[in-house]
Amino acid sequence: MSKYYNPKRKADWNYGGSKWKLSRSKLELFIDCPKCFYLDNKLGTKRPPGYPFNINSAIDHLLKKEFDVHRAKGESHPLIEKYGVDARPVHHEKLNLWRENFVGVEYTHPKTKMTISGAIDDLWINSKDEYIVVDYKATAINDKIETLDKDHHEGYKRQMEIYQWLLRQNKLTVSDTGYFVYANGNKDAKAFDGKLEFDVTLIAYEGNDSWVEKAIKDAHKCLEGNSIPQAGEECDYCSYREAVTKVEI
Ligand code: SF4
Repeated sequence: MSKYYNPKRKADWNYGGSKWKLSRSKLELFIDCPKCFYLDNKLGTKRPPGYPFNINSAIDHLLKKEFDVHRAKGESHPLIEKYGVDARPVHHEKLNLWRENFVGVEYTHPKTKMTISGAIDDLWINSKDEYIVVDYKATAINDKIETLDKDHHEGYKRQMEIYQWLLRQNKLTVSDTGYFVYANGNKDAKAFDGKLEFDVTLIAYEGNDSWVEKAIKDAHKCLEGNSIPQAGEECDYCSYREAVTKVEI
């Protein structure tokens, strides 16, 4: 069995276990498909993960290093200046924890007693001392990326809003405006020559986290229930499972 997939993980990692948290990605799964969320978190069997995107992780890592240089100097970044944005990368004593996968920004939701978590990519601040959530994205498409109008961007927007909500629960004053630093690999070069160049754009997004509280309560209700909820629509995993079941009979 692949080291990336463990269909029978230890109960500690399931809902009610000592290591379980409602991460940002789990909440997104609940929104996408309550059935998969329940099978994963309550019954402990999750669908196989995608293979890790190591190139995306490398780009995230390098962007973090690049913005950290400017953070250390207390100055803005050329990309921020190019877009005329009132912001600079900022220090916070918890930033390293908040950026760490499987730790992130945490908050224990009083009504459900669930710990909600999500790891941010970066934190900036504006001249009104409002913190700004920043998320890095990487892709390689032909069009210049300046808007968030594709279907998969809806998840990116929710991601931003959950981070804004989490930081607000941690008593930070957070601007509704967050930013995506979008690195788009240039496929028009004559040859690879061992390097890939990127266009980097900065996209502002006005977040609205008013839905988060209800989503958390709904996810909690789902986990407290004793029946498997309905699946979401248009899922290739379930289509595959159904197709395989039919041909095997
Ligand atoms: S529809 Fe997809 S997401 Fe939902 S239970 Fe099936 S595999 Fe999981």
